[in-house]
Amino acid sequence: MILEKLVVSMFQENCYIIGDEESGVGALVDPGDEATRIVLAVEQTGLEIAQILVTHAHIDHVGAIAQLVEEYSCPVLMHEEAETMLKQLPTQALMMGVKFGKVPNVDQYIADEEVLEVGDIRLKALYTPGHAPGHLAFYSEDEGIVLSGDALFAESVGRTDLPGGDMETLMRSINERLLTLPDETRVYPGHGPETTIKNERASNPFLQGGGLP
Ligand SMILES: [Zn+2]
Ligand SMILES: [Zn+2]
Repeated sequence: MILEKLVVSMFQENCYIIGDEESGVGALVDPGDEATRIVLAVEQTGLEIAQILVTHAHIDHVGAIAQLVEEYSCPVLMHEEAETMLKQLPTQALMMGVKFGKVPNVDQYIADEEVLEVGDIRLKALYTPGHAPGHLAFYSEDEGIVLSGDALFAESVGRTDLPGGDMETLMRSINERLLTLPDETRVYPGHGPETTIKNERASNPFLQGGGLP
């Protein structure tokens, strides 16, 4: 499996390039900004990008999508509940004081538990709201990885003070959908370094005693 991380924009967002060498088919997860840099990184991998997967529609995760769709003519997939926020990108941009070009279209909704295929890699969508509406994590049991978006970070969790955020919902998502994955599962979050489920269960201060530290 190919899994590459690019940290993009002033939000330091992790965009992931995922794919399998055998078929040469790849996908982009959360291309937040710096489309040209992403295209160059994809070229290095030799992958053909067949889809763009989105964990949630915050501006730092979707900013490069419109440009990349022009480059790859590939579908954009996300949870249906994330679409309203996607349509509000111009407002999000204004609030964050950043410029924003075009609002991308969603081509296909991803349902909870749906299994997406990226070449030979099977990614199961895990509905994990709380940080943002329609938030998804993408889990590959075979590869032992989960792309956790902004739900779970190394020793932290996503903020819940933005519109549509809710701490109780986030905690339930993390406890029921992410911490139930095998210990050795490697976690690739939307910001910051990678971690493992075992680490987070043992030392994430937000998850000790089931509440805020
Ligand atoms: Zn976010
Ligand atoms: Zn983010």
